Parts: sequence; structure tokens; C-alpha cells
Amino acid sequence: MSLYAALGVKTIINAKGPATRLSGGLMRPEVAEAMVEASRACVDIAELQAAASREIAKATGAEAGYVASGASACLLLATAACMAGLDPGRMARLPDSRGLKNEVIMVRSQRNLYDHAIRSAGASIVEVGLPDRYSGAGVRDAEPWEIEAAIGERTAAIFYVADAQSEPPLKAVTAVGRRHRIPVIVDAAAQLPPQANLKRFISEGADLVAFSGGKVLGGPQASGILCGRRDLVMSAALQHLDLDVYEDLWAPPKTLIDRRKLKGLPQHGIGRTCKAGKEEIAGLLTALRLFIKEGDKARHERWLKRLKVIQKKLAKVSKLATEIEGESDSGSVPQLVVTMSAKGGASALIKRLLDGTPSIHVDPFRRARNQLVINPVCFADDDAPVVADRIARSVS
Ligand SMILES: *Cc1c(COP(=O)(O)O)cnc(C)c1O
Repeated sequence: MSLYAALGVKTIINAKGPATRLSGGLMRPEVAEAMVEASRACVDIAELQAAASREIAKATGAEAGYVASGASACLLLATAACMAGLDPGRMARLPDSRGLKNEVIMVRSQRNLYDHAIRSAGASIVEVGLPDRYSGAGVRDAEPWEIEAAIGERTAAIFYVADAQSEPPLKAVTAVGRRHRIPVIVDAAAQLPPQANLKRFISEGADLVAFSGGKVLGGPQASGILCGRRDLVMSAALQHLDLDVYEDLWAPPKTLIDRRKLKGLPQHGIGRTCKAGKEEIAGLLTALRLFIKEGDKARHERWLKRLKVIQKKLAKVSKLATEIEGESDSGSVPQLVVTMSAKGGASALIKRLLDGTPSIHVDPFRRARNQLVINPVCFADDDAPVVADRIARSVS
């Protein structure tokens, strides 16, 4: 009996794309094997993080890197690092941030439900810009000067959510940060592909960048990458690692933790809740290597093939039309958009796919336009005909 069956849990087909509620995606066998291999021997976790730092630095162009339990966890660590620096007293106090630099500036249009990560570190968010879509004024979204005007004595960081439509451009924001010596944290959780984005945000001047390990990167679902300035990554590490150690017996890897910069040894910090084990670190590094080795083009073709299997099988089905978006952009995730001809057809079909066996989750975000969207990242090649057959049966 399979593990899930023994637990009485049904497996599903995830055609929605990486989503935590759907347990993320499928790991390649090499990634799963790396996790099993890592589980067979113990190591000094700081030493393993230092090795991860070297690999992540190479992949991202950053000075240093780190692994935590997700991009959100990395953003919490990033915020804590910007507030506490290398001061063990400040680290110990978080999330009580009274008296510290504890304000994080954020463009209002970039606010999102993941910013709990910033607030749970003890920071408060100072919003700037009002992209007024109601009256038609405020057409320019936020501008660099608005960020600059919000900088004060309490500013710990500027937070930037990277996306195709994010305003102002990151380079303009990091220029403001540089001028005032305020670090810029970039949430790039879902910005892969294209692969070039691994290096892009660092090269545009970001001080810290977070990527999700469990999305397109294909690592363990509970993993994320933090990369950036060495001193900030060191602060993140010190607030994350188990530091129940005696000072005279403690010999952390110098590339990750430079003891000379510390006036005392921190206790467990706020990042203790963001733990990543050796298995996650090993899995993530393997996934990162495979991601780089495969490259955008081959990855895009692999996804496209899956969608085309479905599209071909649906070609003969009446009451619907299909289109692949992103077919010619190898730096994108292609998606199969199914448009229903009958009114309310998409919502009914989505529900039927969910209720069948196995339950199939597609992306419902365009159902108001009578469309359902299939994302190829999180299901297997063998699932493609199953998805197509179920759609065909459910509409006829
Ligand atoms: C997915 C996502 C996150 C969270 O990433 P996890 O690795 O699941 O913690 C944060 N921010 C944005 C914009 C995301 O899309």
C-alpha cells in the first residue's frame, strides 16, 4: 500500500502550478536521492550552510547565500538581519524592535499577503505611493523620490517585490538605497524562470534576494534561498542557527561567520522558526544545479510537450477552445488556456475536475473570463493524457 493510501490521503494532479496548499510540485529523482543520502550521515550544519553559501554565491553572483525553510522564511531572516545587524543584543530582542531601526519601506502597490514575513520579524511597513486606479489620478504608481522621502532615522530596509510590472524599476530603488546606505531586500520568490533572474537582482544592486526553493527551481517544497551581502547573510545565519554552544568550543566556518565581528555570542534568534535541515539543503543544492544545467530552452520544451499532449487531445472536443500562452518565450512558464463556449462553463468544469478521481486542480483565476488555465510545472508527463481525457469527458 502506498504511503498516502495508508494514511487515507488521496493523491491529486496539480495542474495549477507551484502552490503550498497543493503540496508544491514533484521533485526529480536526483533531488529526492540527494535528500536520502544527506539523511544517512550527520554533519556540522553551519559547515553545510557555508558550502551552500559558496554554491549559491556562484549561481547568483552574490557575496554569500543561505538556505531556510522557504522564501518567506528567507524574507523574515532578511528583515531581521537588516534590523539587528551583527549586534547580539538586538538579535535577542526581536521581534520586540522598540528602539531599533524597525521601519521597512514598501511601495503600496507591492503590498501582498506574504509581507507577514516582514512584520513577524518585528518591523512595521511604511507604505509609499498611491497608484490611484479609482479616479484615474496617480497614474505613475510610486516613484523613487517617494521612497527617498520616506527614509528616516528608523528605516531598516527598503522592500521590493520583483515582478514584470513592479514600479519603480529596481535599479532606481537600489540607487536610492545606496545613497542613504539603506539595504534593499528583494522578494524574488516566484521570479524563476528565466534563469538569468538568478543573477539579475543582485546585479541590479539588491542587498538581499529571496527565491523559493519549492517553486520552479524544483527543490524541496520547504526550502528557500537567501543571497546577498556577506554581513547580512552572516546576521541571518546567526539568527537562524542553533547556537547552544560554548564559546571556546565553537569554530564556525569563517566564510559564513566571521567571529571577529561579534562582541558576544548570540543566543537562539528569531529565525529559529525557519529551520532547514541537512536534507533540505542537500535537495535544494541538487535542484539548483539541475536547474542551471537544464537551461531555459530545454525546460520550456519539456513543459510545452506536456501542454501539447493535452491540447491535441482537446482539439476534437466541441464547446471549448485552447491556446498556449508563452509558447515562443523560452524564459516563461507556458500555460494552456482553455476557453469554454457555454456561459459559466469554466466554473462548472473546474468543479467537476476537482470532484473527480483523481482530483485535478487547474488554475481558476480566469474563471470570470470563462477560462481555466493549466500550468505544466507540477504534474508528470503521464498525467497529461489523464488531464485531457477528464476535461473531454467532463464537457461532453
Ligand atoms: C511563493 C511566494 C512567496 C513564498 O515562498 P515560499 O518559498 O513558499 O515561502 C513569497 N513571495 C512571493 C511573491 C511568492 O510568490
